[in-house]
Amino acid sequence: MSENPYASLIRHLTELRLPAVRQRFEEFARRAEQEDLSYEQYLVELVSEEIHTRRQHRIERFLTESRLPLEKSLETFDMKRVPAKIARQVATLSTGAFIDNKENVLVFGNPGSGKTHLLCGLSQALVRKGRRVLFSQASLLVQQLLIAKRNLELGKVLKRLSGFDAILIDDIGYIQQDREEMEVLFTLLADCYERTSVLLTSNLPFSKWDLIFKDPMTTAAAIDRLVHHSVIIELNLESYRISAAKKALHAPENHNGVPA
Ligand code: ADP
Ligand code: MG
Repeated sequence: MSENPYASLIRHLTELRLPAVRQRFEEFARRAEQEDLSYEQYLVELVSEEIHTRRQHRIERFLTESRLPLEKSLETFDMKRVPAKIARQVATLSTGAFIDNKENVLVFGNPGSGKTHLLCGLSQALVRKGRRVLFSQASLLVQQLLIAKRNLELGKVLKRLSGFDAILIDDIGYIQQDREEMEVLFTLLADCYERTSVLLTSNLPFSKWDLIFKDPMTTAAAIDRLVHHSVIIELNLESYRISAAKKALHAPENHNGVPA
């Protein structure tokens, strides 16, 4: 006895890995009938649905692998706190063209000024456009590179990192004094040069980077590579938390004497 057409269709769609088509072909067929669509229009709708869900799933995977704190998005970032020029720069950067040009984005400024939030938000916007970005705390990244080096796997790890379109290295500067640590960091930056965009935040201006890289030659070489193709943003704003605390303090008091 031959298999009924419905069962064989399900089987074929499963084998072809077209889950969205498999799940929705009947629903779409009913709608096509109601709306008097041609066979071709029906097929276009189904295939588009498959493409759309695949893209969604890919973005969800990229968001998970990015390790980005998703609550720090551009939507939750108060852009009015930054000068208009920076807001415009961020809008341009979020098109992702800088990634195609292998440019870097370097954000400096005092603690609490929003550097991490801004770059996480930018990175998330880029992931949602289909780019692969990895968020990493600088100190953690350095530890991972050190472990890889000791296990003779530094090459392998650098290769895996080069699979990302951009690497966000957060808080460079809070790195220990160890020479080996700065060496692996330097190796990573050299490896990314003109290949993978680096986004980084630092409380330390370049003038103090010899605290990170110890000797002046390495410091100059690191800065040179980072700056060569880069957008530099200086966020010297009052700490967001201090501003928020001041606002709460000066808010009109309600009749309980508690700040509103
Ligand atoms: P930095 O990295 O410069 O030290 P963060 O990005 O960690 O600063 O910001 C400190 C805190 O203030 C975070 O909780 C962040 O979400 C919040 N914050 C900073 N700037 C803004 C902003 N413009 N809009 C909304 N929240 C902000
Ligand atoms: Mg930070």
